[in-house]
Amino acid sequence: MGTVAKTNENLKKCICMKCPSYTFTCKMMNMPGNMIAMMSDVSKKVELEAMYCAFEKSKCIKEEKGCICATCELFKENNLGKGYFCVTTGGK
Ligand code: SF4
Ligand code: SF4
Repeated sequence: MGTVAKTNENLKKCICMKCPSYTFTCKMMNMPGNMIAMMSDVSKKVELEAMYCAFEKSKCIKEEKGCICATCELFKENNLGKGYFCVTTGGK
């Protein structure tokens, strides 16, 4: 499994927010923070409610309701081979 760089360019490619596991409540809670993250330097962040393949698992998403990581550009670019990075740090 490859390592995903914590860059703003990579964050733009993350499709986690379109995923069925990313619940409406989590979207409402995390959208403002994620917008701010887009405008700042994400490489300095320790955790983020997006791009879980580069950061740790989510504090909000708890249930596996489908994972669309396999259709994400970063999945192919980094040879990830796993999914559910939001539920398990490092994916499963
Ligand atoms: S591979 Fe999955 S966790 Fe990583 S950026 Fe893409 S959608 Fe998000
Ligand atoms: S890591 Fe996979 S399951 Fe979790 S939100 Fe992103 S696409 Fe959905």
